[in-house]
Formats: sequence, structure tokens, C-alpha cells
Amino acid sequence: MSFKLVENVKEAKRPFVVAGPCSVESQEQMLDIAQSIAKNSNVKLLRGGIWKPRTRPNSFEGVGGIGLPWLVEAGKTAGLPVATEIANAQHVELALKAGVDVLWIGARTTVNPFAVQEIADAIRGTDIPVMIKNPINPDLNLWIGAFERLAKANVKDLVGIHRGFSVYNHPKYRNAPNWEIPIGLMEKMPEIPIINDPSHICGNRTDLLSIAQKAMDLNFAGLMIETHPNPDKAWSDAEQQITPDNLQELLNQLILRDEVLEEGEVGFLELQRRKISELDDELFQLLQLRMQIAEDIGKYKRENGIVILQSKHWHTIVHKQLAKSNELGLSEEFLRIILDAIHQESINKQNSVMNF
Ligand code: PEP
Ligand code: MN
Repeated sequence: MSFKLVENVKEAKRPFVVAGPCSVESQEQMLDIAQSIAKNSNVKLLRGGIWKPRTRPNSFEGVGGIGLPWLVEAGKTAGLPVATEIANAQHVELALKAGVDVLWIGARTTVNPFAVQEIADAIRGTDIPVMIKNPINPDLNLWIGAFERLAKANVKDLVGIHRGFSVYNHPKYRNAPNWEIPIGLMEKMPEIPIINDPSHICGNRTDLLSIAQKAMDLNFAGLMIETHPNPDKAWSDAEQQITPDNLQELLNQLILRDEVLEEGEVGFLELQRRKISELDDELFQLLQLRMQIAEDIGKYKRENGIVILQSKHWHTIVHKQLAKSNELGLSEEFLRIILDAIHQESINKQNSVMNF
């Protein structure tokens, strides 16, 4: 019987963990890693890259089709379903023939609608589950488009993987997390579970826990973490891979908070949220009052032939407010953004009064 991914992700105790090496390197490596990670009760899927999209052509580009039986056999021995990355129709065909349980579309492929369409057409008519990594550029619609292409090809078992977004020379991350994008996907496609991939976000071992914790706090369904029997010797992504023991430690350190409060209970969080909601109402009412005054001023300026923008006056206001930054505990940068947005809206209002 074929493996049902979404069903398994939803039924698993959080987090649903996908573990295994960046690349499949040998039969021994795969048997070794599969048996070690299977001891970890959160690990529910064994990953291994067969075809590796590398940035530069002289790095290791994967063992290719020869490694498929190593991956599949290792999974069978350890009692784990297996997943690999596919980037074209031929990969799909070979992976399906070899008995791979789950396919994933890599970040460098999600960016290309032609490639995604080719994959969707090759998968059409099967019931294989597919995980779609976010595109390398922070474009929510492109990610959604990939889900839509697969859904149109009648692929129903779909999961998202958040692996971060390419930024040139980012001081901290290999790929910046831009959390608002996976959150946007949760809002737009709530039926799609999302797995966070801290390995490709961090590009190192030290920050994995903090990213994984954040993903858990944002209620992601699972984690994909690159795991290798001997990470320093890995043929690809050596800096970010961890041993099965490190994986266990990382998962033990995660703090898992509940999604909802017990029925009928009004806890701390709910109360704070209500307060925030009230304050937001008040903020917007104040803004409404402020804009009404701006309109009145607009009318006055129209009647008296005065220009809308009086930059000297505006500078005085900005300086007066920014000087309160410390006292308010709000950054100057933040205050400046708010002031500019309010000012712009006032000008728009006055403009509509002046030129009605
Ligand atoms: C991978 O998972 O090893 C990989 C190549 O990932 P990404 O597509 O996120 O770069
Ligand atoms: Mn990798």
C-alpha cells in the first residue's frame, strides 16, 4: 500500500521529522544512517539526495540513479519510508520505478514553472506524495503556483518545505528565513502542512536549534534535518549536517507549546491577545480622528490658497516625536516609519479635498 504523507504528518506527534543525509553516497552510508535515525521516535521519513543541484559545476552532483536502490533498501531495513529530490520527468520515472515513497521538488526547481509543470505531468495518474520546497527567491505566489500545478495534475498528497530564501552575503544565514512567507502559505493554503528545514536555512550546525524552535513556536508540522553518520566527511553540505545523536539531542531540547487552550479556559495568552485587539481598535480610532482633522485643514488650505505640504512644519513634528524614542522604548526607525505612513495618508486626504 502506498504511503500517505499528509495523513502521517497530521497523525504524528509533533514534530514529524524527516532525516537523512544531504546526499546518498554509498549503500553502507545509507544502511548506517537509516538504522541510527530509526531509533528516534520522531523520525518518520528517510531523506537522501540522488541528483544534487549544486551552485557550481565542479561540486558533487549526486551519485545518480545507481543510488536509488541503496536508499530504498535502507528504508526497508529500518522500517522507514524514503524520499528523494526530483528535478525533471526522467528523475520522476526512475524514482517511481525504484519504489521511492515520497518525492520532493527542490528550491531551485520550484522557481521554474516549466520544470514544475513537467514534473506535475510526469507524476499525473500516480498517488505519490510530493513535498514542495519554497522557491529560492521570496515569492509566495511562485510557491503557491507550484502547489496549483501539482493539484491540477491531480496530485493530492502535498506538503510544503520552508528552507529559506537566497540572499547575497547574509551575515547570519545561508538562506534567510523570511517567516512571513511560510505564514502566508499557511493562511492561503491551510490544508497544506509545512515542514521547516533548518539545515538549509542555517548552513551551519550551531543555529539549527533556534530555527527549529521558532518553527515549533509558529506551529509548523515538522522538521527536515540533514543527518549523516560522519558529517565532516559528507560529500555535500558538510557544514550543516549533524549526527543521529546530535539530532536526538536537538529534538530533546525543543520546547513544544500547545496550539490551543483547553476548552472554556481563558488563559494568559488569550487575555493578552484580547488586550492587543482592543488597543488596535483604539489606535485605528485615533488615526481616524487624526485624518478627519487633516481633512479639515485641507479644506481650510483650499479656501485660503495654501499649499498642502509645508516641509518646515513637518520637520518640527518629526523631530519632536523622534526625540521621545528612548522614553517610549520604541526605535527611531520604527517611529519614523509610522510617522511617514501617517503623513502620507494625511497628504492623500488633503489632496482629495483640494482637488475634488
Ligand atoms: C537538499 O535538500 O539537499 C537541497 C538541495 O535543498 P534545497 O532545494 O532546499 O536547496
Ligand atoms: Mn543539502
